[in-house]
Amino acid sequence: MIEWLGISHLFELSGVEAIAGFFTPLAVFAAFFVAQFVLPARRVPGYVIDAATGEPRSYRLNGMLVFLIAIAVWWFEVGGLERDWFYRATIPAVVGGTLFSAIIATVAFFSQPQGHEKNWFLAWWHGRALEHSFFGNRVDLKMYLYVVGGTMLVLNALSGAYYHHELFGDDANPGVYVYAAFFTFYIFDYFIFERVQLYTYDLIHENLGFKLIWGGLIVYGWLYILPMWGMAVHPDPGFSPAVTNIWLGAMVVLFLFGWGISRAGNLQKYWFKRWPDRKFLGFVEQRYIEAGDRKILYSGIWGVARHFNYMGEGFLALSVALVFMHPGNLWAWTYMIFIVSLFTWRQFDDDKVCEEKYGAEKWGEYKARVKYRLFPGVF
Ligand code: NDP
Repeated sequence: MIEWLGISHLFELSGVEAIAGFFTPLAVFAAFFVAQFVLPARRVPGYVIDAATGEPRSYRLNGMLVFLIAIAVWWFEVGGLERDWFYRATIPAVVGGTLFSAIIATVAFFSQPQGHEKNWFLAWWHGRALEHSFFGNRVDLKMYLYVVGGTMLVLNALSGAYYHHELFGDDANPGVYVYAAFFTFYIFDYFIFERVQLYTYDLIHENLGFKLIWGGLIVYGWLYILPMWGMAVHPDPGFSPAVTNIWLGAMVVLFLFGWGISRAGNLQKYWFKRWPDRKFLGFVEQRYIEAGDRKILYSGIWGVARHFNYMGEGFLALSVALVFMHPGNLWAWTYMIFIVSLFTWRQFDDDKVCEEKYGAEKWGEYKARVKYRLFPGVF
């Protein structure tokens, strides 16, 4: 089965290495926690209101610094950490990381009183509390999850690319390197705009249960590189240099197009929440519907479709699938399949939640103005 799947290279660790791989996430979680705690950070007010004070919650953000240090540690192989280690140790790391995530979720679960969810498993899965923070709000669990997840996504992608380079040398597939560059750029950009993350769905709506903890740490950090599991062992497909350059160039354009839509959408919404009456970037009129003391934005990216920002992620995921230049291999499509499923479900859910928050009448008005969910004229 493993051979048929084309991933037997991920099962070649010795017994000792497999044990080390199993505990790798635990070491990573601890190192990141210490780094976030110790390193300087900027403190900013967020979007979510602290129920205890009625004021916006405050966050210490130092993701970029942690990210850059982690990349340096990986690159310089500090402490004997081999550059291909994260990739080679993926399987036991996912197993160990899942177990450690379950333990964190269980501690979070028992630290809170029972809420309205009486089913224990569902309460554990979805979580009981919206927030957990430690040491006088010095480390916020949600932001910690994304610093670990985002950085590990890049380290796993780079590690896979390094493995590929060692395996094939001159016959390596340049698409694998472009793939790693895509995610390095994506996460670097995320940390530049780390504050914008404070205005997104996970921060606003999701409780800290196993789903979010495992999703943030392991799915995001380790499993987002699923295409690499299959693709790292395939060499250059052998197209002519001209075809290769055109193909990869087109994928870079598609990636930047998707990223641009998504980044512009997120930034516009962030801008709107902070300065609703200021033109976005100085030239996009912020038009909105008033719904009590809330406002629904319907111009710019938010006037194209109700979740055109998700569509941007879809284009980006398509570029990820095609960048390997092996479109017939299902592994290349795994990220795209995940993203399309995640965002299709999420926009339905967000639509429902927003209808409750803004009221059916005003949300209905918004839906009448911006008719499509993801892509104008199609869906
Ligand atoms: P959104 O940024 O769309 O957040 C949804 C919330 O925004 C709503 O609950 C509502 O909250 C507010 N909102 C939605 N529409 C409007 C509107 N028209 N006017 C005013 N407020 C509105 O979604 P996500 O947090 O899911 O995603 C944010 C970004 O994060 C994505 O675009 C994507 O780039 C990235 N992302 C990427 C993932 C990946 O795996 N690659 C996974 C998840 C996210 P309220 O009214 O309370 O402000």
